[in-house]
Amino acid sequence: MERIRLGNTVFEGRNNAYLIPGERPTLVDVGVATDSVRRDLRDGLDATGHEISDLDAIVLTHWHADHTGLAGELQAESGADVYVHEGDAGIVAGDPEALDAERQIRERRFEEWGIPDGPLDEVTSFLDGHVELQGDAVDVTTVEDGDRIAAGDGELEVVHLPGHAAGLSAFAFDGDDGREAFVGDVILPKYTPNVGGADLRVDRPLETYLDSLARLADEDFTRAWPGHRDPIDDPAGRARVIAEHHRERTERVLSVLDEHGPADAWTVSAHLFGDLSAIHILHGPGEAFAHLDHLVAEGVVERDGDEYLAADTEVDVDELVPVPETKR
Ligand SMILES: [Zn+2]
Ligand SMILES: [Zn+2]
Repeated sequence: MERIRLGNTVFEGRNNAYLIPGERPTLVDVGVATDSVRRDLRDGLDATGHEISDLDAIVLTHWHADHTGLAGELQAESGADVYVHEGDAGIVAGDPEALDAERQIRERRFEEWGIPDGPLDEVTSFLDGHVELQGDAVDVTTVEDGDRIAAGDGELEVVHLPGHAAGLSAFAFDGDDGREAFVGDVILPKYTPNVGGADLRVDRPLETYLDSLARLADEDFTRAWPGHRDPIDDPAGRARVIAEHHRERTERVLSVLDEHGPADAWTVSAHLFGDLSAIHILHGPGEAFAHLDHLVAEGVVERDGDEYLAADTEVDVDELVPVPETKR
């Protein structure tokens, strides 16, 4: 398997695509639809002795443009089958209903989070200005958890790990020294993947994501190949660190409510993250919302209209935000 490094000045930093050579040459994720990334991908494939027309399959971890942007044009050139989880398939396929549904949820959330007009204009024009990075529509083959996809000389198994995105899936395979997986943005080596703002369609985003971290830790992969930056040699350990990070964030959300509540998601976000710009105007209050929503569901925070207030009750943060146990 060959890692192909792609530029990405727009989102989380440099992207990875991965080529699985063999009888059925397969590409995992493809990068944003820009000229420079198009060149990166062509050069990267060339270095492995492949051309775009050689590709038989493309598997996409989730719908975000920095993972899917070039999929449509690569498919047009190669005739490759493109696989994506059913939860994200509509958006990747450019289905107007799926795109419209996402937009409607987004507009509703922006209003209920209380984003003021200035930042609202900024984030809306940022998102509208980046639509073309999503690239051409794709003729998708949908997959679900447990499905197997022929790739290279072997198979990839779909492991659905929603949270950061509704359809986000890892693709597991037998590596040299155990089970490994392409994980997209389920876990990243440096940053904590955004939850709550990155895909507004996800119900109970924090709880959903914590369940996925637990499952990932349980799978106990020997190595994970993320959508950004370097491979992760202890994926279960990284899942624990990210869960601990969310536990700390939940503590901070509760102390913000103690000091400043009742408060809406935008206000909580401002206390957590300060001033925000561009995509962070979506990710900051989204993350605050994911935590607030979880605390409401667990009965330790009350929601009144669009504002949140700490309930008068005992809080056990360890129970609210479980951290996966160590197996090894
Ligand atoms: Zn993503
Ligand atoms: Zn990403």
